[in-house]
Amino acid sequence: MDDVDYVIVGAGSAGCVMANRLTASGRHRVLLLEAGGHDARMWIKIPLGYAKTFADPTLNWGYVTEADDGLAGRRIYWPRGRVIGGSSSINAMAYVRGQPRDFEDWAAAGATGWDWPAVQDAYENMETRAMDASQAGSSGNGPVWVQDLSDQMHAFSRVFLEAGRSAGFPLVEDMNRPGADGIGFYRSTVRRGVRWSSADAFLRPAARRANLRVVTHAQVTRLEFSGAQVHGLAYMRGTQMCHVRARKEVILCAGAINSPHLLQLSGIGPAALLKAHGIEVRHDLAHIGQGLQDHLAVSCQFEARAPTLNSLLGSPLGRLRAGLRYALTRQGPLAVPVNQVGGFVRSTPQQAAPDVQLFCNPASRRGRPHRQGGSGPSAWLSLVRAAVPPDQSRTCADRLGILARCACDPAQFACNR
Ligand SMILES: Cc1cc2nc3c(=O)[nH]c(=O)nc-3n(C[C@H](O)[C@H](O)[C@H](O)COP(=O)(O)OP(=O)(O)OC[C@H]3O[C@@H](n4cnc5c(N)ncnc54)[C@H](O)[C@@H]3O)c2cc1C
Repeated sequence: MDDVDYVIVGAGSAGCVMANRLTASGRHRVLLLEAGGHDARMWIKIPLGYAKTFADPTLNWGYVTEADDGLAGRRIYWPRGRVIGGSSSINAMAYVRGQPRDFEDWAAAGATGWDWPAVQDAYENMETRAMDASQAGSSGNGPVWVQDLSDQMHAFSRVFLEAGRSAGFPLVEDMNRPGADGIGFYRSTVRRGVRWSSADAFLRPAARRANLRVVTHAQVTRLEFSGAQVHGLAYMRGTQMCHVRARKEVILCAGAINSPHLLQLSGIGPAALLKAHGIEVRHDLAHIGQGLQDHLAVSCQFEARAPTLNSLLGSPLGRLRAGLRYALTRQGPLAVPVNQVGGFVRSTPQQAAPDVQLFCNPASRRGRPHRQGGSGPSAWLSLVRAAVPPDQSRTCADRLGILARCACDPAQFACNR
């Protein structure tokens, strides 16, 4: 049995920050447990590797939802990182600050310390904002590297922006400025051509501290109690069951799916559900495992007349050329994430604030999302929303349709599929 001050479950976006902050004073012993392995993997580091890690079972929990009546009975693939860095090691690297309005809503609902001025300070302290090569400068001095890669983005990105502008969406120079409402180039968590995950920003600087221990391939299976209070946990490493006691706190950073799952496995959750699975009820809490929201996407693919990433990387010679360029310069198609342009727009002009997010990729993946696309030129447009009320879905689709048609500049694009 290990004894530490804090045990953190999960070395993802949140867990890496917690590990850094809790070990900074040197006064606390901290144990960070991660179910996955190390992140020293080529396709994690290369920004375009997103297409590979999206469904790699050695890095990904690879969940699939239950069939959903609201989605014509479809089951949706749902990736989540299972590796040091968690989902920040497999995500698409688009860096977007929340809008002031989002945080003011939280503060109004009682979340003290989450009003916009407080959160804006946190963003400023957290970021280093690096300009594109033409401006070659940076502002801020924080651990999170936010890169403007607009000078390296595929030519189709500019076609998309021009099409969006002509469809009435304002162009914004930087989506991370307050009030930015329109379309533009996404900023990316990429540094010198390499993914910059939460592990890079927060865990690596803390890793040399003697009071932090990180254990990989350690899957926490349940919390352990003294009376009504959690005092530690059990985890599996290979075939070995290990126990650890926390003198101060056990901190769950296992993500939006696994944190509530772990609570339920430990007897904290809706009593009826736990009993149905033969789990002893410790705390009957109806909300554990409820109210999850994610951003559903409607994706459209287009056949293109001009080269896209599919055609550039579709042949062994193209891949060799891009690989060499990346190895020698950390530039080229491999150095830029796929989500290059998009933005936040209103589904109808009457909306008080943007309610739809757009993504445009100069590449497509055919068939199921985790299959590789073909080698013919094609591009992908996604409309993303937490939920589309039935009465608005038609309008959203129509608006996207306008945008999609504009993007089909006949000089460059053949048709919408
Ligand atoms: C494919 C994909 C693309 C995305 N693209 C973007 C994007 O472009 N921009 C953006 O801002 N966001 C994006 N996101 C979302 C963003 O990455 C996540 O919201 C964020 O990383 C979640 O952080 P977290 O700390 O809550 O969880 P995670 O980062 O997922 O961390 C949870 C960690 O806990 C570990 N864990 C889980 N259960 C256990 C257990 N029982 N025992 C031990 N360890 C456990 C997991 O293995 C994981 O490492 C994307 C996410 C995915 C999956």
